[in-house]
Amino acid sequence: MSLTVNSNASTAPFVVAFADGDMSMSDLMGGKGANLAEMTRIGLPVPHGFTITTAACRHYLTLGREPDDLDHQVGIHLAQLESTTGRRLGNPADPLLVSVRSGAKRSMPGMMETVLNVGLTDAVIPGLVARGGERFAWDCYRRLVQMYGRTVLGVDGELFEVALVAARREAGVLSDTELDAASLKKLTTDFRRTLVNEVGEDLPQDPREQIRRTIDAVFSSWNVPRAMTYRKHQGIGDDAGTAVNIVEMVYGNTGPDSGSGVCFTRDPASGEPGVYGDYLPNAQGEDVVNGSRTPLPLQDLSDHAPAVYEQLMGHLRTLETHYRDLCDVEFTVEDGTLWILQTRVGKRSPAAAFTVASAMVSEGLIDLDEALRRVDGYQLESLLHPRFMSAEGELLLATGLAASPGAAVGEVVFDAQKAVSQAAEGRNVVLMRTETSADDVGGMLAAVAIVTARGGRTSHAAVVARGIGRTCVAGVDGLVIDLDARTAVCPGGSIKEGDTISVDGTTGKIFRGALAVRQSQVAELLEKQADDGSGAEQPEPVAGSLAAAVLQLLAHADHRRLIGVRANAETSPDALRARRLGAEGIGLCRTEHMLLGERAVLVEHMVLGDESDRAAALADIEELAHTDFLDILRAMDGLPVVVRLLDPPLHEFLPDLTELSVEVALNNAPGGTPDPQAARRLAGVRRWHEGNPMLGLRGVRLLTVVPELIEAQVRALATATLELKTAGMDPHPELMVPLVADPAELSAATARMRGAIESACVADGATLRIPIGVMIELPRAALTADRLALDADFFSFGTNDLTQTTWGMSRDDAEGAFLAEYRESGLLDVDPFMTLDDVGVGRLVRIAVEEGRRARPDLGLGVCGEHAGDPISIRRLVSIGVDYVSCSPPRVPIARLEGGRAVVLAESQATP
Ligand code: PEP
Ligand code: MG
Repeated sequence: MSLTVNSNASTAPFVVAFADGDMSMSDLMGGKGANLAEMTRIGLPVPHGFTITTAACRHYLTLGREPDDLDHQVGIHLAQLESTTGRRLGNPADPLLVSVRSGAKRSMPGMMETVLNVGLTDAVIPGLVARGGERFAWDCYRRLVQMYGRTVLGVDGELFEVALVAARREAGVLSDTELDAASLKKLTTDFRRTLVNEVGEDLPQDPREQIRRTIDAVFSSWNVPRAMTYRKHQGIGDDAGTAVNIVEMVYGNTGPDSGSGVCFTRDPASGEPGVYGDYLPNAQGEDVVNGSRTPLPLQDLSDHAPAVYEQLMGHLRTLETHYRDLCDVEFTVEDGTLWILQTRVGKRSPAAAFTVASAMVSEGLIDLDEALRRVDGYQLESLLHPRFMSAEGELLLATGLAASPGAAVGEVVFDAQKAVSQAAEGRNVVLMRTETSADDVGGMLAAVAIVTARGGRTSHAAVVARGIGRTCVAGVDGLVIDLDARTAVCPGGSIKEGDTISVDGTTGKIFRGALAVRQSQVAELLEKQADDGSGAEQPEPVAGSLAAAVLQLLAHADHRRLIGVRANAETSPDALRARRLGAEGIGLCRTEHMLLGERAVLVEHMVLGDESDRAAALADIEELAHTDFLDILRAMDGLPVVVRLLDPPLHEFLPDLTELSVEVALNNAPGGTPDPQAARRLAGVRRWHEGNPMLGLRGVRLLTVVPELIEAQVRALATATLELKTAGMDPHPELMVPLVADPAELSAATARMRGAIESACVADGATLRIPIGVMIELPRAALTADRLALDADFFSFGTNDLTQTTWGMSRDDAEGAFLAEYRESGLLDVDPFMTLDDVGVGRLVRIAVEEGRRARPDLGLGVCGEHAGDPISIRRLVSIGVDYVSCSPPRVPIARLEGGRAVVLAESQATP
């Protein structure tokens, strides 16, 4: 890892007193230091102290030593601290003791080091006894030796724990808090002996040396492995460094009028107003959080010490009003005097994020833009899906990729037909397959959840499941299905067909048995709320409720966003649902999904059949497509519907080569009956068989080889449109050509499409203009965008295939093969199939947008890959400047929210 002392390090101060800082200085003072400074500034009772800045830490980590002047500056601030507190370091009668705490800009709870009671030596024990008694003094001392030994001298912490266990056993007590002064005094001596035995040195008896060495140890703790791992996981850069806060010690364990607590200014789980927290009398802060004693509800403090309680309530109100946010606060009471030790903006659940943001708008603390900045699409997504009440203690069968969120319970079935027949009997089924293909879609629709052994987050199973709103776990490690025996082996045990399992598509976990499910009230209300054109009265959410908060912020996002939001859908129920959720059109209607299940045979006949098979199949395809298009255009009346020409990876529609080979071999074996038709099919499947179908005869290539398919589909769309127009409706179809690599492919397809529209119009005596666009899903298409734009009304970026082809990674296999390992080992932070890879794929999109628009300024620009529903990707796409995103219907509210957020976030970044 490389660290740089930033160029203004020489001008950045190495030490800042709390009295001289404020909350805007978190880069330099860390979050904790900046908040302590801010609270000091607004007059809250914060113990005195100062911060050694991140600039000093960076210097230390880069050069391996403190800045030359640091010791001197720390000396000056310590002297200042002595004068403001009236206590002196090393004064036997009333010593100044300090805490030395880490505190980076972004909170890394428990990852770095803290040492308390620094400055305690043999000489000052009498002063401490006077402050809190004999037991208190020795307890402070043994804690210092323990923390200093571990943190500064690197002694194994286990050695102290073992000694503590022995001391408790000897004293016949269960907890450390029951150890008396004599035991603690002996422990202190034993601990110091441990230091000498382990590292050959004792606790320094010079308070300043203790402080100096502790500062260095806290600096170094920036690079302990757990802190580095945490940073990687949280996406925190390695070169910020930590600040070190030196704060006068105040004690909550000096007697019955003392104590410590932690609290939130509102409920961080629900966002409800009111103060939530815990309090422990006669205890230090760490006793409250480490669970060694059961804390009391904070309200108990009002009986015990009403004046202190009132003071605290006042400070909490001040903090909320000042920070205009939910705050998380630590406090200590020493002999009836209240001290606020720390505050920060509190972490909260997704529900609380929405409720608090909306409530603070009503209270006039923040405006709607700020409220929008404080929530995000990931939080909204988690609020829209059913959840399991609890999975604790349940039997985990297996874990896979969380491919489509939700929580579903059903009986396992191993094939699509069974899924359909069982579902028809009213049973909830989970379709479990090695992987899914077009043949399985009927079963997927019938199932409540889909589980596959293979495949990534953009595999067939994942994409289809998200599109139709089914829970899905894909690429399950260690899942082996035995179709003949109708059983499956999972890492957590075996299951047989008919067994009930619970599938958590949000975590990727699969459990045996039926877990209790909680439905999402927010999702239900969102759908009911939207005007579905039926004229029915819409239910009002309860004021102040979570649902009301979500609706309020979504409405504001709609008001602010510039980007359009469409949905990927191919059936009228999905289209209607998308419309209820706020979609402004269909951005991708995958026509191959209209030819699934029983209809798949038509594609087979088109490809493998003779002349008359082909003609019959083509006529059927055209007729079915006509009906389907009528349905979807009706559902989206008045809004655009982008119909993509057929783009099936051919293997999904043809019989399986291996199965067919076995069938023909058995037919031809002694005792079998040769079947010429099966043999002909096998010859055909062999001819079209591809080693790499995802890069094979797909999209425009298939349309070039079988051009009649273009004409049939386009005619069906044109005649459906004309029919609806005649009926007084307002259809807005658009056409789109998939997997184009070269402008010549597009020109040829476009000419045929225009011809087909023309012929439909001539037959009808009407005129019709249907915009024609091209999908940009191959790097070559992006790089020849200026030429493609000449023949296209719009581009739609198919970022699934564009990611696959840019990275050269199969969207079906990469996750199981190596992507997961890449992410675990830190080679990749995120799955590029989920979150748009800005520097690679994003760059191609940018090039295509710029060059396409230059060639044709009125070029429309959309995105219809999975990234169009991913919050981070949406923000990136907004900054690239596309006109709309098109995502699966359940993610439409997420795209609306993030579309609005992208605008307000960009504005706040632009404002200095
Ligand atoms: C894409 O590739 O991003 C896309 C939308 O098309 P499909 O997922 O159907 O290949
Ligand atoms: Mg594609």
